[in-house]
Amino acid sequence: MDFENLVIIGSGCAGLTAAIYGARANLRPLVIEGDQPGGQLTMTSYVENFPGFSEGINGFELMDNMRNQGEGFGARFLSVIVERINLKTKELFFNNGQNVVAKAIIIATGAAPRMLNIPGEREFFGGKGVSTCATCDGTFYKNKEVVVIGGGDSACEEAQFLTRFCSKVYIIHRRDQFRASKIMADRVLANPKIEVLWNTIPIEICGDKKVTHICLRTENRERELPCSGIFLAIGHIPNTKIFGGQMELDLEGYIMTQGAHTSIPGIFVAGDCCDCHYRQAITAAGMGAAAAISAERYLS
Ligand SMILES: Cc1cc2nc3c(=O)[nH]c(=O)nc-3n(C[C@H](O)[C@H](O)[C@H](O)COP(=O)(O)OP(=O)(O)OC[C@H]3O[C@@H](n4cnc5c(N)ncnc54)[C@H](O)[C@@H]3O)c2cc1C
Repeated sequence: MDFENLVIIGSGCAGLTAAIYGARANLRPLVIEGDQPGGQLTMTSYVENFPGFSEGINGFELMDNMRNQGEGFGARFLSVIVERINLKTKELFFNNGQNVVAKAIIIATGAAPRMLNIPGEREFFGGKGVSTCATCDGTFYKNKEVVVIGGGDSACEEAQFLTRFCSKVYIIHRRDQFRASKIMADRVLANPKIEVLWNTIPIEICGDKKVTHICLRTENRERELPCSGIFLAIGHIPNTKIFGGQMELDLEGYIMTQGAHTSIPGIFVAGDCCDCHYRQAITAAGMGAAAAISAERYLS
């Protein structure tokens, strides 16, 4: 068994920023990269809202830069998945059979957007017309017609936001009323740029190089709806299953925090695994910095 000062679980914006800060504090952090090295941003072609890149930057390149920056200061990387963890003893068990004990741990395991699992969805995901984030990608659809899928608060919020750029926003909802709060639903229903298609199910996303239309089923009738963008707003799943029963999670599985601290001494948290509100690269990075500073103070 190996012993480590600081282990960071996850190599997205939160984990890699924590790695840069931890390494610069001379802690030689060990970053566990997981099955998605670089995290969610590696799924997108273009990031326009990360400060410091006025022309935008490719998501993969941004994450590669962050990794190199951490490595340059002494962070180490292990390409494995944490299969099991004992948060009390701070023992981590990896999928290659190896295990380590850490003095402090930063959890930065992120979240995964819920998908519809229909044909075309994966093919056009990330820069080709299918998105899970209006804040990130809304400006790419100026004066275009787009579709939002979902019926909760986030679907209503995303649709409202998109009307700032788009000529028309359709909300596709499988029920005959919103799950969203009344105030959000009322705003959407009063917005002349939004049309809600009730009792409607998406069955296929179609296009050539980019999305051109979506196939829908309403009761027994199928039809094609032309659109340039499709925003999935059906929720996210935080990657926190391995911590269940050992720490406080909310009803959706997000880790409950007080700043960067969890309810367990020496265990810190950052990024989308504890943030159901903002889910942005920059907020995850900021939380990663805070978690590393807190871990450094704890260790000293
Ligand atoms: C297609 C797409 C486009 C986006 N575009 C933008 C944008 O333009 N601007 C913006 O600000 N935000 C954007 N976002 C959101 C942004 O990517 C996230 O907010 C951000 O990546 C969150 O960072 P994170 O480090 O918290 O988690 P993630 O990026 O989700 O990273 C989680 C990490 O944890 C690892 N992991 C998980 N479980 C384990 C385990 N058991 N063991 C070891 N490792 C594990 C994974 O391998 C991964 O490395 C986009 C998201 C998507 C999906």
